[in-house]
Amino acid sequence: MGWQPGEGTGKGEEPVPGPGAPGGSDPSGGSNSQSGPAPHGEAQGEAQRDERLSGFMRGGEWDACLPGPELAAVLTAVAGPSGAGKTALVLDSLIPAARARLAGLPEPGHVRRLDLQGIGQVVQIDASPIGLNARSTPATYSGAFDHIRRLFAASAYARRRRWKPGHFSFNTREGQCPTCRGLGHLDLDVQYLPDITVQCPTCQGARFNDAVLAVRVDGMTIADVLGLNVRDAVERFASAPPVAAALRPVNEVGLGYLKLGEPTPSLSGGESQRLKIASRLRSSQRGALYVFDEPTTGLHPLDVATLVGVFDQLLDAGATIIVIDHDLDLLAAADYLIDMGPGGGPEGGRGDVVQDRQ
Ligand SMILES: [Zn+2]
Repeated sequence: MGWQPGEGTGKGEEPVPGPGAPGGSDPSGGSNSQSGPAPHGEAQGEAQRDERLSGFMRGGEWDACLPGPELAAVLTAVAGPSGAGKTALVLDSLIPAARARLAGLPEPGHVRRLDLQGIGQVVQIDASPIGLNARSTPATYSGAFDHIRRLFAASAYARRRRWKPGHFSFNTREGQCPTCRGLGHLDLDVQYLPDITVQCPTCQGARFNDAVLAVRVDGMTIADVLGLNVRDAVERFASAPPVAAALRPVNEVGLGYLKLGEPTPSLSGGESQRLKIASRLRSSQRGALYVFDEPTTGLHPLDVATLVGVFDQLLDAGATIIVIDHDLDLLAAADYLIDMGPGGGPEGGRGDVVQDRQ
């Protein structure tokens, strides 16, 4: 593709041997363009660096600039003192402008310039709870439960009764325990007292009715499966690739200890955040810009390390990440650090690239 007519055709295989390459082939291999040794001047690198994500406030107007395509799949952290403009740059300028541009809508007037090359989607992930009720679980959220229910419906026992996958859901009348309607517990409304929650006396918390619990796959009832933790389930369902594939990312973001049937509203903010990321790790993230606002808030230092590992997985999948945070471990892991400041309020509004790991 990068073949240029008249550029050393016919004779040698390598028209322009790079300096220091002892006649060997290009280590990068492939048939990419051989445009000769590109000038990798430091000065040029410096100039480009200023064009990466940066924010400058001029009379209330912002320049917001995103990494270009050659800089996709990098982690950029935005730090700085309170009031220095982190939120104003990322959440109030960059995100609304990028969303408007991608949707073809009028862009906010205070953003004077926006370079969005290579970005086709903006994803904001927060640490808010997943699901409003106890019916959302890691199994349902990851998509694994659909495949698990199909396995149960494919059993000889279920096929004889013409049971469909929906039969193996605690959300359907066919599947759920009639007493607790699939919740596994009962909320007792006692006047003048806080509600009391007790285990359902009919299903003992299994959430399903007896007819459904008579079906076993690999020796397990559907309730047994929901009692497995993610790590064990990945092993048990190794021979059922769709199930294992849906659960593997959940394990990889460090949530292997969660039970498949654990209600997601009971997860911590950090767990919810990682489960949301895991649900996206199943597909390519090329062109996706992820924005996290203080994702380490409330996290144990070990969880911060896990989160950094999860960010690496997102980057490997092709995502571009911008994170507002001040956790030193997270900042140290960033490819670029934008330090907003120098102070808060009127002293703020300037973004400077102070770190470049590359
Ligand atoms: Zn019940």
